[in-house]
Amino acid sequence: MWTCPATRIFVPGSTGSKGCRASSRLRKRRSGSERVPAMADVVDRPQAAPAETITPVDASSIWHPGEIALQETVGVRRVMERQGAQVIRDHLIDQHRLFFPLLPAIVIGAVDQNGDVWATVREGQEGFLSVPDSKTLALDVTADDQDPAEAGLLDGCAVGLLGIQLGTRRRNRLNGIVRDRGVSGFSVSVRESYGNCPQYIQLRNYAFATTPIGVKPSRQETNSLSEVHRALISASDTFFVASYVDRGDCRQGDVSHRGGKPGFVRIDRDGSLTVPDFAGNLYFNTLGNILLSGRAGLCFPDFESGALLQITGRAEVLLDSPEVALFQGAERLWRVYPERVIYRPGALALRWMKVEGGESPNSLMTGSWDDVRDQTEAGQHAASWRRFRVSHRVQESATVSSFFLQPVDGGTLLRHHAGQYLPIRVQMGDGDDRASAIRNYTICAAPSDGCYRISVKREGSVSSFLHDRGDVGAIIEARAPAGEFGLQQESSKPSVLVAAGIGITPMIAMLRHRLFERQRTRRAARTWLFYSSRSLQERPFDAELGAILANAGDWLQVVRLLSDSRDAVEGKDYDIKGRLTAATIKDILPSLACDFYLCGPSGFMQDMYAHIPQVNR
Ligand SMILES: Cc1cc2nc3c(=O)[nH]c(=O)nc-3n(C[C@H](O)[C@H](O)[C@H](O)COP(=O)(O)OP(=O)(O)OC[C@H]3O[C@@H](n4cnc5c(N)ncnc54)[C@H](O)[C@@H]3O)c2cc1C
Repeated sequence: MWTCPATRIFVPGSTGSKGCRASSRLRKRRSGSERVPAMADVVDRPQAAPAETITPVDASSIWHPGEIALQETVGVRRVMERQGAQVIRDHLIDQHRLFFPLLPAIVIGAVDQNGDVWATVREGQEGFLSVPDSKTLALDVTADDQDPAEAGLLDGCAVGLLGIQLGTRRRNRLNGIVRDRGVSGFSVSVRESYGNCPQYIQLRNYAFATTPIGVKPSRQETNSLSEVHRALISASDTFFVASYVDRGDCRQGDVSHRGGKPGFVRIDRDGSLTVPDFAGNLYFNTLGNILLSGRAGLCFPDFESGALLQITGRAEVLLDSPEVALFQGAERLWRVYPERVIYRPGALALRWMKVEGGESPNSLMTGSWDDVRDQTEAGQHAASWRRFRVSHRVQESATVSSFFLQPVDGGTLLRHHAGQYLPIRVQMGDGDDRASAIRNYTICAAPSDGCYRISVKREGSVSSFLHDRGDVGAIIEARAPAGEFGLQQESSKPSVLVAAGIGITPMIAMLRHRLFERQRTRRAARTWLFYSSRSLQERPFDAELGAILANAGDWLQVVRLLSDSRDAVEGKDYDIKGRLTAATIKDILPSLACDFYLCGPSGFMQDMYAHIPQVNR
């Protein structure tokens, strides 16, 4: 018998795990023999990540140290090393060669002589982009002296290009070097070419309002945001971000799309812009560049008027801001401090009209800065008891009832993590016998459900009181959600949820959360649920679990055990007869290199905790 070192076990009330290993968050490396990334020497900006926080990498890697550092924070470095070599090419594949000539506009990221990076949009009738060979994209665009990006479009300059079809959500990236700059355009020799996923893109159709070639109106330049700029940013659901990195003496330019609900870019008091970073392709091109160079250029097109707002300035990545947890869908934040702001009314000849019902499904599943503000305000009262009303009640089984709670003050629900519990206080008894009692109940809902549901098994005094007196309209007091139990977001290991009896409640919350996140991000770790119950009559959530399973696809597998299988049909009502043991779990799992989450009666927990990591040889 030996212990599997890759097994981690999480139980309610623990902050860490048995066998838990150090987090990989931007680990510091200090060994003198290790190579310091080239960028640390080239870039000397206080806002860029200190060199020692960036993991040194093999120079042959397709990813640079900034990208790798961020890939490591989400545990995908090895996967991306393999994937990068497959998807990032040094030439245009046929599909992309056919794509660019269809476009009436292209987004460009370029760096001027001062090191300021700019994002811009250039337009032309379809066909103004052509692909003479698989290593070259030709742009039929005249010089525009009103565009600050123009200074970075000279022969030999590194640029990033983004071809994007807002009407179909297709987009392709191309990074390369400007060649053959002439009066009627230039070409870009391809260094990196790859497709991008269609997430967060609001569908829009286009029409030319004026001719794309012509004299552009004068630009207005400031070093801070005016009311007009603020109004445009606050209404925007789309913008583009340019960034760059210097690898040795070689510069790499990049430009990328960002989308969200209107207002997803927050303008802070100091005029900085804070942006939530949602789940993406895990390449971290933009944020990796920002991590190293500390610079970014944004452009906000006004799709209705044709104005273009271009901003360049210092930028930073915020990995540990408490606001990340409050903004649904945000995995980190990044911030830009505008230094030069250029507004060009009438810069664009195209007008882009929203397609009705064309909101991005991924964007709709994200939160808002208003939510964050409400959450922050509500959090100030987290330590005090708050009155909730039972708004709805459901009998889940012979012994379990669910109570849905709404705050009496009509305010915002404090956002919880899947797996957390709610400390509740009820007033029991009458007259002189009146006394308050406090218990904890898991919030049996995902954060995205936007409600508190507690599911209570009738046992002793408080649970019986809730069953007997907790009708719709009853008042229950609760404090802020608490507890550390919950899915380890950074882990790429399979998750194994092991529940007995009412210990299923945090597992339901976690599964609901994982299902939502899977729909939003298209990612979910392989997950097993082992669910042991006494009898069919006492077992709650049969229908709900069935619906989760039906929607989950092949990442979720559920194994149900019944101790008393009378009136139950094997295969339909349960999978295994008898009590759950560690041996049963180990027989079913292909490997013990998993994160285990345990919840149930104390004897069950002790047994699982002791025996799951033991592997028979
Ligand atoms: C983090 C956390 C999350 C939880 N989540 C949930 C949840 O989602 N759902 C849920 O139902 N519970 C949950 N619980 C358990 C819950 O907090 C209560 O402990 C549970 O409801 C029992 O409380 P009670 O007042 O009903 O029982 P108590 O009155 O506290 O009694 C506890 C036990 O002792 C027995 N008992 C009481 N008096 C006697 C006596 N005189 N003689 C013999 N036996 C007696 C009762 O039958 C009962 O089994 C959670 C607990 C924690 C710590």
